[in-house]
Amino acid sequence: MAVKNTFRFFVEPATLRNDLVRLEDPALAHQLSRVLRLNPGDQILLLDGLGTAYTLELTALSRKEVVGHILAHEPATGEPDLHLTIYLPLMRAERFEWALQKCVELGASRFVPVLCARSLASERADERKHERWQRIVREAAEQSCRGLLPAIERPQTFASACAQVNQASLALLLAEFDGMPLLRTLLRTYLTTTGNPNLTSLALFSGPEGGLTPDELTTAVDHGIMPVSLGPRILRAETAPVAATAALLYELDNRSAVA
Ligand code: SAM
Repeated sequence: MAVKNTFRFFVEPATLRNDLVRLEDPALAHQLSRVLRLNPGDQILLLDGLGTAYTLELTALSRKEVVGHILAHEPATGEPDLHLTIYLPLMRAERFEWALQKCVELGASRFVPVLCARSLASERADERKHERWQRIVREAAEQSCRGLLPAIERPQTFASACAQVNQASLALLLAEFDGMPLLRTLLRTYLTTTGNPNLTSLALFSGPEGGLTPDELTTAVDHGIMPVSLGPRILRAETAPVAATAALLYELDNRSAVA
């Protein structure tokens, strides 16, 4: 069993095919030797992002390359048994990135950025932004000891995102409007009435700073996405999905309950 506080890094699966591992990665080499002050003989954990963790003993560290040999490999730990997809509304960059990072730490498995009617137009994403988001996801997954690397898709419009979720067993929309059922109430009713005690896949939508439009609420409901309330207080656009992710994983992730 890998030591919990072993430094871990996600790498391409192809680099882990042989016991001798050579990583041509100046940024990683710098982080290991200069930042973490590691030396040959020290051990790190390499994750292939597909569910396996490899214990690597370092044998050489240069400015550009990390060399080591694999001592052991085992199933990667750190994953919840609920596959949660978060349809995260595009919002002001630093808020979007904060919510993305926190939901990775909490255990979300997949992200779809959503361009809502009231998303700030300047937040339309481009390739450079998508690469930045992938880096934020990878660093948060490494820091929080995740076993799998969450995926972040290209942005979708709200309507196309809603059309995606039909295969999810349960899809929720955080709606701050009056008269919406509490998340807790809806979950417990769903779990008892549908005879589906072990929910394994869930989709979560929420709105941007300006909120969702009535049309977006209607579109979601038309696709079987159930609006739920987190209570009487109005949370910021970046707070709501994080709070809901924490509540959902607390309530539904049986693996954490065991740990
Ligand atoms: N209508 C809000 C207002 O009056 O300030 C603006 C939207 S709120 C800042 C951003 C999003 O967070 C909402 O669209 C909703 O998805 C979610 N949200 C905030 N508070 C919530 C609550 N109490 N229950 C459910 N969703 C909430």
